[in-house]
Amino acid sequence: MTFQKNQIYTVEIEDIGAEGEGIGKIEGFSLFVKDALPGDRAKVRLTKVKKNYAYARLEEILEPSPDRVMPRCPFHRQCGGCQIQALSYEKQLAFKQSKVENNLVRIGGFAPEKIREIMEPIIGMEDPWRYRNKAQYPFGYSKEGELITGFYAGRTHSIIANTDCLLGARENREILEILLKHMERYHVSAYDEATGQGLVRHVLIRKGFSSGELMVCIVINDGKGKSGTKNGRNDSEVRGKRWIPEQNKLVDRLALLHGMTSISVNLNPERTNVIMGPETVTIWGRDKIRDKMHLFRTDGSEFVKTDKSVTYEISPRSFYQVNPVQAERLYSTALSYAELTGRETVWDLYCGIGTISLFLARDAGQVYGVEVVPEAIEDARENARKNHIANAKFFVGKAEEVLPAFYEKEAQMSEEAEAMRHPDVIVVDPPRKGCDEVCLRTILRMRPERIVYVSCDSATLARDLKVLCEGGYELKRGRVCDQFCQGVHVESVWLLGREEPCTV
Ligand code: SAH
Repeated sequence: MTFQKNQIYTVEIEDIGAEGEGIGKIEGFSLFVKDALPGDRAKVRLTKVKKNYAYARLEEILEPSPDRVMPRCPFHRQCGGCQIQALSYEKQLAFKQSKVENNLVRIGGFAPEKIREIMEPIIGMEDPWRYRNKAQYPFGYSKEGELITGFYAGRTHSIIANTDCLLGARENREILEILLKHMERYHVSAYDEATGQGLVRHVLIRKGFSSGELMVCIVINDGKGKSGTKNGRNDSEVRGKRWIPEQNKLVDRLALLHGMTSISVNLNPERTNVIMGPETVTIWGRDKIRDKMHLFRTDGSEFVKTDKSVTYEISPRSFYQVNPVQAERLYSTALSYAELTGRETVWDLYCGIGTISLFLARDAGQVYGVEVVPEAIEDARENARKNHIANAKFFVGKAEEVLPAFYEKEAQMSEEAEAMRHPDVIVVDPPRKGCDEVCLRTILRMRPERIVYVSCDSATLARDLKVLCEGGYELKRGRVCDQFCQGVHVESVWLLGREEPCTV
């Protein structure tokens, strides 16, 4: 059989790929079909043919999978965000659990029985909608020349008008509509990527779910040659400047919204895809919003809220988990895996603004956080101070450089330095590319009692766990936490303990 682009076939979808695509076979030839689900019988059109497989598009569902549900969002197939929205939530969770299991077996080389034995039930959401505390909406024009805001159609930069993404906060819609109305009324232009002309590029909206505080940051095509207008500068000239036509009217209207706490403009004069520029100027209210996270106790697989909490200050550019409800559960699981009694020395590598570090500090003797972004470390220190946490210290630098530097320091004089070289627990929460090899080797040399690995990519997780287990650790527990409901990304947390030498 020779396969060609645009041919149409009828195929039974048997499996689901890592990106949520349906997988079917015709005479041993694999087809990867966007938007198709296991159990579908469908007509598909080939879009790209390779030697042993092809990509295809769903043309018509002949018989729907029993796991199909009516997608709530009318745009879900155009938008790249919710790849598996048409799959029942129960099956979404099963898909994520098995995606992690498969990677640990295939890449990590772990025995499937071992993985199944140690993995706890996935942590799903009761209501897997409107969980995101952050939204970034681009502004532009429709084909008819109408001012719009919405989201980029999958893998493109053309905007599809939609002011109410169902993963985001309900307030987003009103904020976006106020902005659109203001821009129409006072002829404020949207930025055009093709020409580099126009003013309003994006709006970033953040909401503190527990505090109810709202932040609006309008990213504008302005600011070339300006300097010193750093976030928080209370300079009346800068604060008083009008960046947007009839700015006061816009600010007055936005400020009426319940919970509005911070309104700023971010200056991004560059012709780039990067959303935020380096400078942010607060034009109304505070520079940051606050949010609080509670520590939960685990009781079997249930989570019970405790009265311990940490409050975080979040600026427009800070990294902060986008699903705070699930982040509390993820971090609480990490904390329970660390088995802290109040005396331990703990390293928290890749600590960001100290979110996990400060959770750990509530129950540890001393916590040391390491993070490569200096502003994040400033936030971490400020967060520690504001929460009266005195047992957390933070270092700027790469984990793979900071950690060996401490370990290799000759002639350690103080008790603290010795404890740092031989910690009780090391927690890592690396970006998708996982941990650097040098970092893993140093962890192995430090030989902590326990290692807790928080991962946002199960393929690099599997690779790293293999190194740690070959270096004398054993996988003890693991749990997937659904932070990105309706999408395919998976977060999980793992406990490794030292393999004890056999004494018999
Ligand atoms: N634990 C934090 C942040 C996790 S995201 C939280 O949950 O909020 C991963 C973090 O690793 C990012 O903040 C990123 O800036 C940081 N990072 C990336 N490479 C790093 C490296 N080589 N060393 C230290 N930190 C790094």
